[in-house]
Amino acid sequence: MRGALLREAPGRLVIEDLQQEGPRSGEVLVRMGAAGVCASDHHVMCGTAVLPMPCVLGHEGAGTVEAVGEGVTSVRPGDRCILSFVSACGHCARCRTGHPQLCDTNALTGARQYDGTTRLRDASGAEVLQMSKLGVFSESLVGPAQACFPIPDEVPFEAAALMGCSVATGFGTVANAPGVRPGMTVAVFGAGGVGLHAVQGARVLNASRIIAVDVSESKLEFAARFGATDRVDASVEDPVEAIRALTGGEGVEFAFDTFGSSATVQAAVDSLGKNGVAVIAGLAPLGDRAGIDLVDLVRKQKRVIGAYYGSASPHDTFRQVLDLYLRGALLVDEVVQRRYPLDEINEGFAALERGENGRGVIVF
Ligand SMILES: [Zn+2]
Ligand SMILES: [Zn+2]
Repeated sequence: MRGALLREAPGRLVIEDLQQEGPRSGEVLVRMGAAGVCASDHHVMCGTAVLPMPCVLGHEGAGTVEAVGEGVTSVRPGDRCILSFVSACGHCARCRTGHPQLCDTNALTGARQYDGTTRLRDASGAEVLQMSKLGVFSESLVGPAQACFPIPDEVPFEAAALMGCSVATGFGTVANAPGVRPGMTVAVFGAGGVGLHAVQGARVLNASRIIAVDVSESKLEFAARFGATDRVDASVEDPVEAIRALTGGEGVEFAFDTFGSSATVQAAVDSLGKNGVAVIAGLAPLGDRAGIDLVDLVRKQKRVIGAYYGSASPHDTFRQVLDLYLRGALLVDEVVQRRYPLDEINEGFAALERGENGRGVIVF
């Protein structure tokens, strides 16, 4: 089995032959169909997010169950599945109170399986970890059965892969934000993979204004195809002033930061009107902090909240985005702009670094 490993950060991925143990109790073996090239993997490669190494990266993927371990009844060999990058233990305080995306045990065990061990070894016999217990940049993976969400045959693997991270995160962040309603005014910061689906979430919820903000004119044009009603190029104009001008001086009711940085968080909060809600979904570099105008926060009764993995159970969001996709209300195939074999995965990340539109996908 071949997988794309990160051995040092900052660094590039290396393709290596790995020894893979079969699924243990509660686990499955999945043959990968497609995997998305996501900024969260790139952060780890750059060292701005940290994972133990060596580690197979990749957390946005879909594939076919090939074998199941003892006690697995939720999926069977042959099932095609979206993979959730938080698989959820089912018994911790977070899982039991309806927030499986925040699973404590998952966070505690990290890139190891739930029993604390690994399923991969390199040629020297040393342990190899799997990002999010998955590591979808590999021909096959062994991971928790509860990561699997079965999908019908008509859903292509490329779209299913994206549903595992960028679609669920972008759509869920908007759909599950407190107080969203038809006719709301929205600004979305960042027109990357997550941002495009936040724009679509706002469109599906019938927002009256969907202002896309990015520093790339080409990404903004691309976002218009997915429902952005207005575009603000923050490389040539102040996004806060531009958003105010577009909303009659009011500011927006909701601002979603899908990029993740002190600058975009501050701009998102500053662009809100009274009672506005800023939802932060993008992961900023480790240790980053944002300055917030505290008088403005109180006097205008603004709210700033974080949103992880769409703020809901990933399986619940997968069901929603799948239904919307199948009836043509959510565009996912159109987001895929580039395809690579596993051997060319670093090309995929080079395109992401260049800021190319839409998503790159590894096809197995
Ligand atoms: Zn991702
Ligand atoms: Zn849990």
